[in-house]
Amino acid sequence: MSAVPSITLNDGNAIPQLGFGVFQIEPKDTAEAVSNALEVGYRHIDTAEMYGNEKEVGEGIRASGLDRGDIFVTSKLNNGLHEPQDAREGFDRTLSDLGFDYVDLFLIHWPLPTLYDGDFVSTWKTLEEFHRDGRARSIGVSNFQIEHLERLAAETDTVPAVNQIEAHPYFTNDAVREYGREHGIATEAWSPIAQGGVLEDSNIAQIADKVGKTPAQVVLRWHIQRGDIVFPKSVTPSRMQENFELFDFELESDDMDAITALDQGEDGRTGPHPDTFAKIPS
Ligand code: NDP
Repeated sequence: MSAVPSITLNDGNAIPQLGFGVFQIEPKDTAEAVSNALEVGYRHIDTAEMYGNEKEVGEGIRASGLDRGDIFVTSKLNNGLHEPQDAREGFDRTLSDLGFDYVDLFLIHWPLPTLYDGDFVSTWKTLEEFHRDGRARSIGVSNFQIEHLERLAAETDTVPAVNQIEAHPYFTNDAVREYGREHGIATEAWSPIAQGGVLEDSNIAQIADKVGKTPAQVVLRWHIQRGDIVFPKSVTPSRMQENFELFDFELESDDMDAITALDQGEDGRTGPHPDTFAKIPS
């Protein structure tokens, strides 16, 4: 039986709090990575059309022999596809590439407020169609700032089930998380170990020594105790296993606070700023 707890989303669906991310896994390595992760016990996979490996995610899942219904699959609308008809075609392609007739969660990958005349509302209304027809069991957003979420609240009927944002000890992103908490939007923390960038931190190493865990386990456990959803990426089977072993220890509140205090605000951000990011695939 899985030791991974589930979080109940605002639409009543349950999502495993720990999953496996496949950003920057080469398509040729993805099916094997996904198979290995499922073997370890992960039951939640986070992909995106942008990652170029949806087909191989589907292959890895099918190769496991597990029931589709036992695995939570997330994908995301690519940046070039915010116009409603493009979004419909993109979503059809995502399902066809995965080889499934539904995804558990479908997200707008980036708000792109400087493109499409600033309109991500019609995009969100198109995701509402996918939710209504049952092909996206839950819908949400990614990289949305508070003002973007406020706009959806004012102009549409569905509160996003999740907001997937950059968050780790050097960039806690707490204002956006807090808005989510107040409005029933679960936070998913991307790059939860800052792609390895927080693992050499001496404060984290000290806590890891004290509790007899690795720095990655301590940081991932910090996310779990904050109530966020995480899906660390690794192509290394021993790390996949390590990152899965988070539920046999607990961080004391002093240690939680010490990790949160490592926040560097905007200086700690590793990815682009959602207000200005405007890259669409060529
Ligand atoms: P992570 O913070 O998960 O870090 C991944 C990196 O850390 C890899 O280089 C991996 O190496 C290494 N690593 C993993 N585990 C360990 C460990 N236990 N000890 C030491 N090193 C380790 O970065 P990601 O950017 O991949 O974020 C996770 C997921 O979040 C993505 O895969 C994707 O699903 C999602 N994401 C979403 C974004 C969005 O805009 N919505 C943006 C970025 C990410 P190796 O693989 O070689 O083992």
